[in-house]
Amino acid sequence: MAGSYREKEVDYLIDYELKPAGITDEKVLNAIRKVRREKFIPESLRNRAYGNYPLPIGENQTISQPYIVALMTQALEIDKNDKVLEIGTGSGYQAAILAELARIVYTVERIPSLLDRARTNLYSQGYDNIILVLGDGTQGLPEYAPYDKIIVTAAAPKIPEPLIEQLKGGGKMVIPVGDRFVQDLKLVEKALNGRIYQKSLGGCRFVPLIGKEGWKD
Ligand code: SAH
Repeated sequence: MAGSYREKEVDYLIDYELKPAGITDEKVLNAIRKVRREKFIPESLRNRAYGNYPLPIGENQTISQPYIVALMTQALEIDKNDKVLEIGTGSGYQAAILAELARIVYTVERIPSLLDRARTNLYSQGYDNIILVLGDGTQGLPEYAPYDKIIVTAAAPKIPEPLIEQLKGGGKMVIPVGDRFVQDLKLVEKALNGRIYQKSLGGCRFVPLIGKEGWKD
């Protein structure tokens, strides 16, 4: 995708889709502007890389809609010193966006072929602050806990308890919770005293979170 064509496409996405829908955080918009979404999707779909919709990435999984990526990232209010945990690496696109804003990103994926592809792709693009781990993300990643921010990019039947435990006091988590077809995007905040506060960011539709504290395969 040639330089100026890509710039036009991404400017259109930002000005006509993201900003009018309430994505106003310049740092988030700059990350969207910088990360090359076309590099995270199949070759045959590359001319649609900056459309505001999800796209298939193989293994029955999808790269999320840019608006949802931006909304979740904005809600986390990421600081440059943050340690972030992502559950559901998929293509690695959301991890790249997070890595532009945070100190370090840990991302967990259950499907080996997706994880391998994301790792090769991210490393070849020079991302050196993303650690990719194979596993059941419903268990979190206790080795490196606690996390300042947690983002779950697959639909959960409930908030997995290990993720609440592994969130720092003062930390934030975004997670879609609902049934297999439609979910409520929740922003979960853990106060310094450990109390949990939740609010809804709106409806959404993700592929299922499959695992011990998620849906059955
Ligand atoms: N964030 C991704 C999109 C994720 S799609 C991107 O930017 O492209 C959801 C991903 O979650 C899928 O790849 C799916 O395999 C993965 N997934 C589902 N259940 C999981 C679990 N328990 N642990 C880790 N990954 C899981």
